[in-house]
Amino acid sequence: MTRCIALLSGGLDSMLAIRIMQEQGIEVEALNFKTMFTCCQDLSAQVARDLGVNLTIIGQEDDYLDLVRNPEYGYGKGANPCVDCRIYMFERAKKFMHQVDAQFIISGEVVGQRPMSQKRSDLDTISYQSGLEDLLLRPLSAKLLPPTKPEREGLVDREKLYGVQGRSRKFLIELAHKYNLKDIPTPSTGCSLTEPEFGRKVHDLIQIQVDDQPWDYDALNVGRHFRWNENTKVILGRDHQENLKLEYMHKMEDATSSALIEPLSFKGPTALVTGPANEDSISYALGLVYRYGSTLEDEPNTVRVDAETGSQEMVAVPTDRSSDDITIAMTTGLRRQER
Ligand code: SF4
Repeated sequence: MTRCIALLSGGLDSMLAIRIMQEQGIEVEALNFKTMFTCCQDLSAQVARDLGVNLTIIGQEDDYLDLVRNPEYGYGKGANPCVDCRIYMFERAKKFMHQVDAQFIISGEVVGQRPMSQKRSDLDTISYQSGLEDLLLRPLSAKLLPPTKPEREGLVDREKLYGVQGRSRKFLIELAHKYNLKDIPTPSTGCSLTEPEFGRKVHDLIQIQVDDQPWDYDALNVGRHFRWNENTKVILGRDHQENLKLEYMHKMEDATSSALIEPLSFKGPTALVTGPANEDSISYALGLVYRYGSTLEDEPNTVRVDAETGSQEMVAVPTDRSSDDITIAMTTGLRRQER
Protein backbone atom coordinates (compact mmCIF):
# COMPACT_ATOMS: atom_id res chain seq x y z
CA MET A 1 0.00 0.00 0.00
CA THR A 2 1.38 3.40 -0.95
CA ARG A 3 1.09 5.88 1.90
CA CYS A 4 1.99 9.55 2.07
CA ILE A 5 1.95 12.33 4.64
CA ALA A 6 0.02 15.49 3.79
CA LEU A 7 0.63 18.79 5.50
CA LEU A 8 -2.95 19.88 6.15
CA SER A 9 -3.64 23.50 6.99
CA GLY A 10 -7.38 23.23 6.44
CA GLY A 11 -7.16 25.47 3.35
CA LEU A 12 -8.38 24.56 -0.12
CA ASP A 13 -4.93 23.81 -1.56
CA SER A 14 -4.08 21.12 0.98
CA MET A 15 -7.57 19.62 0.63
CA LEU A 16 -7.08 19.32 -3.12
CA ALA A 17 -3.61 17.83 -2.75
CA ILE A 18 -5.11 15.10 -0.56
CA ARG A 19 -7.98 14.41 -2.97
CA ILE A 20 -5.54 14.09 -5.87
CA MET A 21 -3.65 11.40 -3.98
CA GLN A 22 -6.82 9.61 -2.89
CA GLU A 23 -7.96 9.55 -6.53
CA GLN A 24 -4.85 7.46 -7.25
CA GLY A 25 -5.64 5.04 -4.42
CA ILE A 26 -2.88 6.38 -2.17
CA GLU A 27 -3.46 6.36 1.57
CA VAL A 28 -3.00 9.78 3.18
CA GLU A 29 -2.05 10.58 6.78
CA ALA A 30 -2.63 14.27 7.52
CA LEU A 31 -0.36 16.37 9.72
CA ASN A 32 -1.37 19.77 11.05
CA PHE A 33 1.31 22.02 12.47
CA LYS A 34 0.43 24.55 15.14
CA THR A 35 2.54 27.37 16.50
CA MET A 36 1.91 29.92 19.23
CA PHE A 37 0.96 32.28 16.38
CA THR A 38 -1.76 30.07 14.89
CA CYS A 39 -4.93 32.14 14.80
CA CYS A 40 -8.43 32.12 13.30
CA GLN A 41 -10.80 29.21 13.31
CA ASP A 42 -8.89 25.99 12.77
CA LEU A 43 -10.68 23.87 10.19
CA SER A 44 -8.14 21.06 9.95
CA ALA A 45 -10.07 18.57 12.14
CA GLN A 46 -13.30 19.07 10.23
CA VAL A 47 -11.52 18.92 6.88
CA ALA A 48 -9.71 15.71 7.87
CA ARG A 49 -13.06 14.17 8.81
CA ASP A 50 -14.63 15.24 5.51
CA LEU A 51 -11.71 13.83 3.55
CA GLY A 52 -11.64 10.61 5.55
CA VAL A 53 -8.00 10.87 6.63
CA ASN A 54 -6.30 10.43 10.01
CA LEU A 55 -5.09 13.70 11.48
CA THR A 56 -2.11 14.21 13.78
CA ILE A 57 -1.50 17.64 15.26
CA ILE A 58 2.01 18.67 16.23
CA GLY A 59 3.08 21.84 17.98
CA GLN A 60 6.18 23.95 17.77
CA GLU A 61 9.16 23.12 19.95
CA ASP A 62 11.22 25.54 22.01
CA ASP A 63 13.52 26.33 19.09
CA TYR A 64 10.71 27.72 16.92
CA LEU A 65 11.10 31.20 18.35
CA ASP A 66 14.75 31.22 17.26
CA LEU A 67 13.71 31.14 13.64
CA VAL A 68 11.14 33.89 14.24
CA ARG A 69 13.88 36.01 15.83
CA ASN A 70 16.49 35.33 13.21
CA PRO A 71 15.20 33.73 10.02
CA GLU A 72 17.81 32.77 7.47
CA TYR A 73 15.48 33.53 4.57
CA GLY A 74 13.95 36.75 5.87
CA TYR A 75 10.44 37.95 6.62
CA GLY A 76 7.30 38.55 4.61
CA LYS A 77 5.21 41.67 5.01
CA GLY A 78 4.53 41.03 8.69
CA ALA A 79 6.98 39.10 10.85
CA ASN A 80 6.36 35.83 9.01
CA PRO A 81 9.53 33.84 8.33
CA CYS A 82 7.66 31.55 5.94
CA VAL A 83 10.55 29.81 4.18
CA ASP A 84 12.30 28.98 7.47
CA CYS A 85 8.97 27.98 8.98
CA ARG A 86 8.15 25.64 6.09
CA ILE A 87 11.57 24.04 6.37
CA TYR A 88 10.94 23.56 10.09
CA MET A 89 7.53 21.98 9.43
CA PHE A 90 8.83 19.63 6.74
CA GLU A 91 11.73 18.51 8.91
CA ARG A 92 9.20 17.37 11.47
CA ALA A 93 6.96 15.89 8.81
CA LYS A 94 9.93 13.86 7.59
CA LYS A 95 10.37 12.31 11.04
CA PHE A 96 6.67 11.54 11.14
CA MET A 97 6.86 9.98 7.68
CA HIS A 98 9.42 7.47 8.95
CA GLN A 99 7.39 6.79 12.11
CA VAL A 100 4.25 5.83 10.19
CA ASP A 101 6.06 4.08 7.38
CA ALA A 102 4.95 6.46 4.65
CA GLN A 103 6.95 6.78 1.42
CA PHE A 104 6.73 10.51 0.68
CA ILE A 105 5.17 13.84 1.66
CA ILE A 106 2.72 16.06 -0.20
CA SER A 107 1.72 19.67 0.29
CA GLY A 108 -0.78 22.01 -1.35
CA GLU A 109 1.90 24.54 -2.31
CA VAL A 110 1.33 26.21 -5.68
CA VAL A 111 4.19 27.76 -7.64
CA GLY A 112 3.98 31.57 -7.47
CA GLN A 113 0.90 31.69 -5.24
CA ARG A 114 2.52 33.39 -2.25
CA PRO A 115 5.28 35.94 -2.67
CA MET A 116 7.10 34.86 0.47
CA SER A 117 7.31 31.08 0.32
CA GLN A 118 6.01 29.77 -2.96
CA LYS A 119 8.29 31.29 -5.54
CA ARG A 120 9.85 28.49 -7.56
CA SER A 121 13.24 29.10 -5.91
CA ASP A 122 11.61 29.02 -2.44
CA LEU A 123 10.06 25.64 -3.16
CA ASP A 124 13.47 24.28 -4.16
CA THR A 125 15.04 25.75 -1.02
CA ILE A 126 12.35 24.21 1.20
CA SER A 127 12.70 20.76 -0.41
CA TYR A 128 16.49 20.83 -0.11
CA GLN A 129 16.91 22.40 3.33
CA SER A 130 14.26 20.19 4.94
CA GLY A 131 16.24 17.16 3.77
CA LEU A 132 13.25 15.84 1.84
CA GLU A 133 14.46 16.77 -1.64
CA ASP A 134 12.57 14.62 -4.15
CA LEU A 135 10.38 13.03 -1.49
CA LEU A 136 8.34 16.23 -1.36
CA LEU A 137 5.58 16.26 -3.97
CA ARG A 138 3.34 19.24 -4.75
CA PRO A 139 0.48 17.64 -6.69
CA LEU A 140 -1.09 20.96 -7.76
CA SER A 141 2.09 22.24 -9.44
CA ALA A 142 3.94 18.97 -10.05
CA LYS A 143 3.97 19.31 -13.83
CA LEU A 144 5.97 22.53 -13.52
CA LEU A 145 8.56 20.83 -11.32
CA PRO A 146 11.01 17.97 -11.93
CA PRO A 147 9.50 14.51 -11.33
CA THR A 148 9.83 13.45 -7.70
CA LYS A 149 10.91 10.00 -6.55
CA PRO A 150 7.36 8.63 -6.09
CA GLU A 151 6.55 9.78 -9.64
CA ARG A 152 9.71 8.26 -11.10
CA GLU A 153 9.14 4.98 -9.30
CA GLY A 154 5.52 4.75 -10.45
CA LEU A 155 3.91 5.15 -7.00
CA VAL A 156 2.21 8.28 -8.33
CA ASP A 157 0.91 8.78 -11.87
CA ARG A 158 2.38 12.11 -12.97
CA GLU A 159 -0.19 12.35 -15.77
CA LYS A 160 -2.91 12.81 -13.15
CA LEU A 161 -1.12 15.71 -11.43
CA TYR A 162 -1.46 19.40 -12.32
CA GLY A 163 0.57 22.40 -13.44
CA VAL A 164 -1.14 25.18 -11.49
CA GLN A 165 0.75 28.42 -11.11
CA GLY A 166 0.06 31.93 -9.74
CA ARG A 167 -2.43 33.55 -7.42
CA SER A 168 -5.72 32.99 -9.25
CA ARG A 169 -8.11 30.62 -7.46
CA LYS A 170 -10.34 30.07 -10.49
CA PHE A 171 -8.86 26.74 -11.53
CA LEU A 172 -8.56 25.57 -7.91
CA ILE A 173 -12.25 26.18 -7.37
CA GLU A 174 -13.06 24.25 -10.57
CA LEU A 175 -10.94 21.41 -9.18
CA ALA A 176 -12.81 21.61 -5.87
CA HIS A 177 -16.06 21.05 -7.75
CA LYS A 178 -14.51 18.20 -9.72
CA TYR A 179 -13.47 16.52 -6.47
CA ASN A 180 -16.85 17.20 -4.90
CA LEU A 181 -15.50 19.42 -2.13
CA LYS A 182 -18.52 21.26 -0.75
CA ASP A 183 -17.25 23.70 1.87
CA ILE A 184 -14.59 25.74 0.13
CA PRO A 185 -12.69 27.73 2.76
CA THR A 186 -11.81 31.37 2.13
CA PRO A 187 -8.09 31.98 1.76
CA SER A 188 -6.31 32.68 5.04
CA THR A 189 -2.82 32.01 6.35
CA GLY A 190 -4.25 31.34 9.83
CA CYS A 191 -1.05 32.83 11.23
CA SER A 192 -0.91 36.14 13.08
CA LEU A 193 2.74 36.65 12.06
CA THR A 194 1.48 37.60 8.59
CA GLU A 195 -0.61 40.48 9.96
CA PRO A 196 1.29 43.77 9.60
CA GLU A 197 0.02 45.21 12.89
CA PHE A 198 0.96 42.10 14.87
CA GLY A 199 4.21 41.91 12.93
CA ARG A 200 5.22 45.39 14.13
CA LYS A 201 4.84 44.25 17.72
CA VAL A 202 6.96 41.17 17.01
CA HIS A 203 9.66 43.29 15.37
CA ASP A 204 9.61 45.62 18.34
CA LEU A 205 10.40 42.67 20.62
CA ILE A 206 13.07 41.25 18.37
CA GLN A 207 14.86 44.50 17.66
CA ILE A 208 14.48 46.45 20.86
CA GLN A 209 13.96 43.96 23.64
CA VAL A 210 16.79 41.55 22.98
CA ASP A 211 16.17 39.42 26.08
CA ASP A 212 12.59 38.56 25.04
CA GLN A 213 11.01 35.40 26.44
CA PRO A 214 8.20 33.12 25.15
CA TRP A 215 5.81 34.87 27.55
CA ASP A 216 6.48 38.20 25.78
CA TYR A 217 5.30 36.66 22.48
CA ASP A 218 2.18 35.22 24.09
CA ALA A 219 1.42 38.64 25.54
CA LEU A 220 1.39 40.17 22.04
CA ASN A 221 -2.08 38.69 21.56
CA VAL A 222 -3.51 40.83 24.35
CA GLY A 223 -4.02 44.58 24.66
CA ARG A 224 -2.32 47.74 23.43
CA HIS A 225 1.46 47.74 23.73
CA PHE A 226 3.50 50.85 24.58
CA ARG A 227 7.27 50.80 24.69
CA TRP A 228 8.91 52.77 27.48
CA ASN A 229 12.55 51.80 26.86
CA GLU A 230 14.52 48.78 25.63
CA ASN A 231 13.68 46.75 28.72
CA THR A 232 10.24 48.02 29.59
CA LYS A 233 6.84 47.97 27.98
CA VAL A 234 3.35 48.71 29.22
CA ILE A 235 0.39 46.61 28.06
CA LEU A 236 -3.14 48.00 28.49
CA GLY A 237 -6.30 45.90 28.32
CA ARG A 238 -8.80 47.09 25.71
CA ASP A 239 -11.87 45.62 27.38
CA HIS A 240 -12.96 43.66 30.43
CA GLN A 241 -11.87 40.30 28.96
CA GLU A 242 -8.41 41.60 28.19
CA ASN A 243 -8.13 43.13 31.68
CA LEU A 244 -8.85 39.69 33.14
CA LYS A 245 -6.41 38.04 30.74
CA LEU A 246 -3.65 40.46 31.77
CA GLU A 247 -4.33 39.72 35.42
CA TYR A 248 -4.06 36.01 34.67
CA MET A 249 -0.89 36.41 32.60
CA HIS A 250 0.77 38.40 35.38
CA LYS A 251 0.45 35.36 37.64
CA MET A 252 2.01 32.92 35.17
CA GLU A 253 5.26 31.32 36.25
CA ASP A 254 7.29 32.58 33.30
CA ALA A 255 5.74 36.08 33.23
CA THR A 256 8.19 38.90 32.55
CA SER A 257 5.74 41.45 33.95
CA SER A 258 6.85 43.14 37.13
CA ALA A 259 3.76 45.18 38.05
CA LEU A 260 0.00 45.02 37.61
CA ILE A 261 -2.01 48.24 37.81
CA GLU A 262 -5.78 48.19 38.29
CA PRO A 263 -8.06 51.25 38.54
CA LEU A 264 -9.96 51.43 41.85
CA SER A 265 -12.01 54.65 41.86
CA PHE A 266 -12.71 54.91 38.11
CA LYS A 267 -13.28 52.72 35.07
CA GLY A 268 -10.18 52.12 33.04
CA PRO A 269 -7.74 49.61 31.63
CA THR A 270 -5.67 47.18 33.62
CA ALA A 271 -1.98 47.71 32.87
CA LEU A 272 0.98 45.37 32.99
CA VAL A 273 4.51 46.66 33.19
CA THR A 274 7.02 44.25 31.64
CA GLY A 275 10.65 44.66 32.59
CA PRO A 276 11.81 46.57 35.66
CA ALA A 277 9.09 48.33 37.65
CA ASN A 278 10.65 51.55 38.92
CA GLU A 279 9.40 55.04 39.63
CA ASP A 280 9.72 56.11 35.98
CA SER A 281 8.08 53.10 34.38
CA ILE A 282 5.25 53.02 36.93
CA SER A 283 4.50 56.72 36.47
CA TYR A 284 4.53 56.23 32.68
CA ALA A 285 2.05 53.34 33.09
CA LEU A 286 -0.11 55.44 35.43
CA GLY A 287 -0.25 58.16 32.78
CA LEU A 288 -1.45 55.63 30.21
CA VAL A 289 -4.11 54.25 32.55
CA TYR A 290 -5.27 57.84 33.10
CA ARG A 291 -5.29 58.60 29.38
CA TYR A 292 -7.28 55.50 28.42
CA GLY A 293 -9.58 55.47 31.47
CA SER A 294 -12.85 57.29 32.20
CA THR A 295 -11.22 59.40 34.85
CA LEU A 296 -12.96 61.50 37.51
CA GLU A 297 -12.73 65.29 37.40
CA ASP A 298 -12.95 66.31 41.04
CA GLU A 299 -11.72 63.24 42.89
CA PRO A 300 -8.43 61.39 42.89
CA ASN A 301 -8.15 58.61 40.31
CA THR A 302 -6.79 55.87 42.49
CA VAL A 303 -5.27 52.63 41.29
CA ARG A 304 -3.76 49.62 42.98
CA VAL A 305 -0.20 48.80 41.96
CA ASP A 306 0.93 45.23 42.65
CA ALA A 307 4.66 45.12 42.14
CA GLU A 308 7.43 42.77 43.25
CA THR A 309 8.02 45.10 46.20
CA GLY A 310 4.39 44.87 47.40
CA SER A 311 0.97 46.34 46.81
CA GLN A 312 0.05 50.00 47.22
CA GLU A 313 -2.58 52.54 46.20
CA MET A 314 -1.46 55.39 43.96
CA VAL A 315 -3.08 58.20 41.96
CA ALA A 316 -3.08 58.13 38.17
CA VAL A 317 -2.27 61.51 36.62
CA PRO A 318 -1.82 62.66 33.02
CA THR A 319 1.69 62.47 31.57
CA ASP A 320 3.11 64.78 28.94
CA ARG A 321 5.26 62.03 27.47
CA SER A 322 4.20 61.01 23.97
CA SER A 323 2.80 57.48 24.10
CA ASP A 324 1.64 56.16 20.77
CA ASP A 325 1.26 52.43 20.86
CA ILE A 326 3.82 50.26 19.12
CA THR A 327 1.65 49.47 16.13
CA ILE A 328 1.45 53.20 15.36
CA ALA A 329 4.90 54.26 16.46
CA MET A 330 6.99 51.51 14.85
CA THR A 331 6.52 52.45 11.23
CA THR A 332 10.14 53.33 10.46
CA GLY A 333 13.63 52.24 11.29
CA LEU A 334 13.11 48.51 11.12
CA ARG A 335 16.07 46.36 10.14
CA ARG A 336 13.98 43.54 8.81
CA GLN A 337 14.63 42.13 5.36
CA GLU A 338 11.34 42.36 3.50
CA ARG A 339 11.04 39.99 0.57
S1 SF4 B 1 2.18 31.86 7.41
FE1 SF4 B 1 2.97 31.51 9.50
S2 SF4 B 1 2.69 29.32 9.83
FE2 SF4 B 1 2.50 29.65 7.63
S3 SF4 B 1 4.56 29.33 6.82
FE3 SF4 B 1 4.37 31.50 7.23
S4 SF4 B 1 5.19 31.79 9.28
FE4 SF4 B 1 4.74 29.60 9.06
